[in-house]
Order: sequence, then C-alpha cells, then structure tokens
Amino acid sequence: MASVSVDRVWKYYGSTAAVKELALEVADGEFVAVLGPSGCGKSSTLRMLAGLEHISAGEIRFGSKRVNDLPPRDRDIAMVFENYALYPHKTVFDNMANPLKLRGVERSVIEDRVKKAAAILEIGHLLERRPGELSGGQKQRTAIGRAIVREPALFLFDEPIAHLDAKLRAHMRGELKLMQRKLGTTMIYVTHDQMEALSMADRIAVMNDGVLQQVGTPQQIYNHPVNAWVAGFVGEPPINFLDGHLAEVGGRLHFTHGSFQLPLMPEQEEIVRSGYRGDKVRMGVRPDQVTITTEPRSGAFQGRILVTEPIGGDMLVDVSLGGDKVLVKTSPDFEGAMDQPCYLTLDRGRWHLFGNDDGVALF
Ligand code: ADP
Repeated sequence: MASVSVDRVWKYYGSTAAVKELALEVADGEFVAVLGPSGCGKSSTLRMLAGLEHISAGEIRFGSKRVNDLPPRDRDIAMVFENYALYPHKTVFDNMANPLKLRGVERSVIEDRVKKAAAILEIGHLLERRPGELSGGQKQRTAIGRAIVREPALFLFDEPIAHLDAKLRAHMRGELKLMQRKLGTTMIYVTHDQMEALSMADRIAVMNDGVLQQVGTPQQIYNHPVNAWVAGFVGEPPINFLDGHLAEVGGRLHFTHGSFQLPLMPEQEEIVRSGYRGDKVRMGVRPDQVTITTEPRSGAFQGRILVTEPIGGDMLVDVSLGGDKVLVKTSPDFEGAMDQPCYLTLDRGRWHLFGNDDGVALF
C-alpha cells in the first residue's frame, strides 16, 4: 500500500505547459478521482505517476520515497487504460495470469490470485473463454483483473470504462468502488465524467487547463465549489448562472438581478462585506435548489415557463426570468404549462455568489 505526494509538479511538452504546479496528497488506501475536461492534463498527470512520462519539474513520492527517476516496473503500480489490450489467443485466465508469469511467480500462487480476482470481478465462470467470446464489460473486467492480480501498492486507472454503454458504465461504477474498498489499494482514477468521480471517489481533484482547481470530497465539490468554473463543470443538469450586482436596500445587501432582488443572509453579507470590493457578481443556483410553483408565493420571483420536460422520476422546467433562462428540477406532478407564469424561490443558503472578474466563490 502507498500514499502518494505530488509536490509542485510541472509537465511541459516543448514550451506548452500541460500540468502547472500540481500539488496533491493521496492517503494510503484512498480513492482519488482526477476530474476535468479533455486536454486539462489528467492523463499527463497519471503518466507521470506511472513513470511513462518525464516529470519536467517538482517531485512525486510514494510514501517517503522519491520516484521521479524510478522506471515503471519498479514503482509497484498497476494501470488500466480505456483501451486495454487483451491477448486474443489467450484465455481469460492466461490474460490475467500473464503479468505474474512474466515475473516468474509460482504456478500455485498465480492460480490462487487469479481465482480471487475473478471472484471479486464475478468472472470466475469465464476463465476458459477467449476475449472474442466476451462482452465489452467482461473484457474490461478481465483487464482490471490483470491489474488486481499484481497486488500493487497503487492503482492508476485512466478512463477505464469510458467506452462502455451507459447502463454498463453505471453498473461498473458500483463494482469498481466496491472492488477498491475490498482491496484497500490506493487508487488514482482519471475521468472526464463527473458522475464517475462523484459516485466513486473518496475525494475529487478537479483540473482545468493544467491547473488544479479544487480538491475535496464529492459533497464539498458539489456543495461548496471554490469558483464558478468548478460549479459549472460539476453537476448534471448544470448549475444556473445569473449575472447581477450587489445593492444595499434598507441597510441590507441584496443580490440584484434584472427581474428580482434577493437579500443576503447575515452570514453571507458578512463574507461579502469583509472580502469583496466590486459590485458586479454572478449568482449560481442548482436546478434542484429552486422551488417552482404555479401560484404566487411570498418572496417568490415571477418567471415564465418556456418548456417542461418530464424525465421519469423528475421534471425539468425551463423558465425565462428577466431575459435569463433558469432550469428547475421539480417533481413530475408539476402542472405548469408552456407560456404560463410561474414563481421561483431559492433554497435558503443553498445558492452561491461568485466574483464577477475572477469567478472566485464568495459563498
Ligand atoms: P487529458 O488527459 O486531460 O485529456 P492530457 O494530459 O492528455 O489531457 O493533455 C494535456 C495537454 O497536453 C493537451 O493540450 C495535450 O494536447 C497536450 N499533450 C499531451 N500529450 C502530449 C504529447 N505527447 N506531446 C505534446 N503535447 C501533448
């Protein structure tokens, strides 16, 4: 088992910086997802951890041991990529056994480890099949099994289930999480899919443009994004942003939008007064933190229903609010219809305010 320290690490390709001063601590046995859009530097980070890519500056340590110059085979890691390559002519058993055979591990130990890994992944009944006789999910499990049998100190997974269909992906999320918890092996898991990160990881490291934006538990990332970018990237359907400004009304600060004014709560007001100099701000509120009714309510803002979309157990309602569009997630019983007025209230204390210039969260 291993803890991992990424200490002010840079990765340059020529003059392009793909990873900029990344600092990340992963505890022994922890499952950390590295989340961000394509091109943000996730794979470069993972490849530096694996020893497949030179580290331009900074230091990576496993435990207290500096590994910058250690070749991949000496790092005690196992990787799984999106494009796993199984040997087509070998059985599932032999595919999984291969890394151990190459290391000259004893036959009885190999058998024991392959059977244990196959049991965890529920592919024990497929050990004699060849890859051509497996479904996409079974092939991926075989590739993961090949990583498990190594009993490494660290798993490095790079979008391992990205190519599977949506239903299987959802299923594999649960399985991978369970597998990691059972084995207790430290896991660094790269994905662009926020659902994977939110549902599986102990903590998420969110990256954008080579820069680490925030590290935190899924709840921290979702409920307390450090900036508008993280707030916008994490959450499905995405958070609503409304531009406005701060105005003092009757001695209290209000978020003022073209179509409504919302008083800040005393603790929110204190944060803003002590730390923010501008008056332009951006509000963020998640679709499920807005309450919508067809009847007026005290303190509610009036909008107009653009369209309603029933999505099984929920209903999405697009609302026009003073020229902006706000998406609301409500119950499928909502009875509003297109072009009718509707009334919105925001869940107390669940909305966010970001600085207009740098997008940094005030609360
Ligand atoms: P991600 O995994 O988040 O999609 P990558 O780490 O693959 O991002 O890439 C980060 C940036 O580095 C991208 O702009 C990409 O084009 C660039 N990059 C990645 N690998 C190389 C390489 N071998 N040579 C040059 N540029 C690269």
